[in-house]
Amino acid sequence: MSSSRQVPPNKREPTTTYTKRRIINGESLKSSGTAFIGQVIKLWNSPLCVGVDRIEDYVEKLLHSIFFLGHIHEVGLLPNDFFESQAVKDELETRFQMAFHNYMSPPRQTPFSILLTLAVRFCGHEDEDKIQKHLLRFLEALELPPKIKGESNYTNYYTLEATVIAVCYNETPGALRPVKYYGASLSCRGERARRIMINQSCLNVWHDYVSYAVLSFRHDEQGNGIIFPGTVKCRAFYRNHQANRYEDRRPCNNCGDLFSLANPETDRNDFPYGNCAETECLSKLIFKDKDVRSNMILGISYTRENLRGLKEKAAKALEQSLMA
Ligand SMILES: [Zn+2]
Repeated sequence: MSSSRQVPPNKREPTTTYTKRRIINGESLKSSGTAFIGQVIKLWNSPLCVGVDRIEDYVEKLLHSIFFLGHIHEVGLLPNDFFESQAVKDELETRFQMAFHNYMSPPRQTPFSILLTLAVRFCGHEDEDKIQKHLLRFLEALELPPKIKGESNYTNYYTLEATVIAVCYNETPGALRPVKYYGASLSCRGERARRIMINQSCLNVWHDYVSYAVLSFRHDEQGNGIIFPGTVKCRAFYRNHQANRYEDRRPCNNCGDLFSLANPETDRNDFPYGNCAETECLSKLIFKDKDVRSNMILGISYTRENLRGLKEKAAKALEQSLMA
């Protein structure tokens, strides 16, 4: 800092608009998170769950994921902030101690992705329409306020909804019904939260091939995408709020780079590599389908060593973001 300044430098105060936005954003995460937890508990107690194994695991993961997003938010929310009733909170805390104790460590999925996994458990993997309707009913029950006029996509209102969901499968000749895998775009907001979730996913969740592609575009001068066999189909959907239904959407430019998906958007978007729904479902497909694994084309510089180097960078970045 220059010593020739005549006036001692003041720490720059955040503008009133910024502070106001931050508070609105924090408050909205609090109310969205509270509503989300309320609906999940309702779902857990509904007849839909009868006979479905280990629903509690999903409830625990959801609580953990929401608490973590509250913890890393600029306003710093605590698990307690997501409950309207002390009795409900006490009951859940007794039952799900892990979520209440580990909320400072990053989860493996964002809340909406866990909800989608749960929806696939309820509805089965085949019927996309049924899964979408299940999600729409859940979203409707959250009773989020109508979109703020003039805002493109709830910019300041933190909804915990994934903007896009995607499905993919390997349509091999002869196989009658391929298994469908689903994914959601990251349902967290802000650069820091996205960075944490992407690095965490590259290190601990996604298949190495996907992690490599994402990390190479994030860290290397030249990104190295992966190419799936022609039998792999992948489609994405976004929610049309007015019509309250999911509609097809083209893959974004990033997905064109990462996975060579057909007919990608040509405009650059603001989302980081790894944010998209396609990333999650394609990773699941690679894990499960040996045929896909052995017939896909990896980037020219994909080696164990390069992957290790990129993962080290991701681990460092994750550590730094968690301390920030
Ligand atoms: Zn994309």
